[in-house]
Amino acid sequence: MVDYEQLHLYSPVISDDILESVFDEALRSLVKKEPRPEIDARFYPYAGLSSTIRLRNGRVHARVSDILVGSPRDVLFALACILVAKLYRLKTPKVHERTYRQHTLDPSVLDASHDTRRKRGYKLTTSSRGQVYDLAELFKELNGRYFAGKLEQPLLSWSQRRTRRVLGHHDHVHRAIVISSTLDNPRIPRLVVEYVLYHEMLHVKHPLRVMSGRTIYHGRAFREEERRFERFEEALKWLEKIASPVRSKIRRRRRLF
Ligand SMILES: [Zn+2]
Repeated sequence: MVDYEQLHLYSPVISDDILESVFDEALRSLVKKEPRPEIDARFYPYAGLSSTIRLRNGRVHARVSDILVGSPRDVLFALACILVAKLYRLKTPKVHERTYRQHTLDPSVLDASHDTRRKRGYKLTTSSRGQVYDLAELFKELNGRYFAGKLEQPLLSWSQRRTRRVLGHHDHVHRAIVISSTLDNPRIPRLVVEYVLYHEMLHVKHPLRVMSGRTIYHGRAFREEERRFERFEEALKWLEKIASPVRSKIRRRRRLF
């Protein structure tokens, strides 16, 4: 089983499910009058920590900055309550404001926010050639090996910061693949960089689809094709090694809330 959390900041499909259940709970706790509207809640790649909510055709549409993906559930719940209260012109319970503010003032969250802003704002200034690996060269090779050379090359770039939580990212809006500089290291085998890049290349080949209001990032065809990567299992073991120190840090931080 592929651990998508290591490839991206999150697995969007699972994250959106969690977000929807959180908003549903917030709506139930704040709005007593029935029937309550249906919820469509999704993470969205805003440049900063923005979140929006609106009511349209009897449905509540909420968009939450994807910087908050992977945040503790109580933080997401606090934000959902703040947004629902705003929508219904209710007074926001102070405890939710405090929980949300405390979390967003956490330096690591602010970091992620600034990083995202920078990454999304200045994408074109970075290069595909790293200290160790050249993404353009790897792309060409993988394109020939797995895509019969037919995949159109997007913008390829190393991330400006060494982030371990996001090892790769495909930005379909800017048609770009960004790979974490953590992987541009002689101690990281070429195989690992190839695998992460291959995964992002599959995102170019299988664009995201919206099915009954849901965004599908890793559909069945995507997952099947991903398994065609030679030494797939070996690559995954490496990813686990690279991502694990971060995992324990996240767990520690969660306990604080
Ligand atoms: Zn992916």
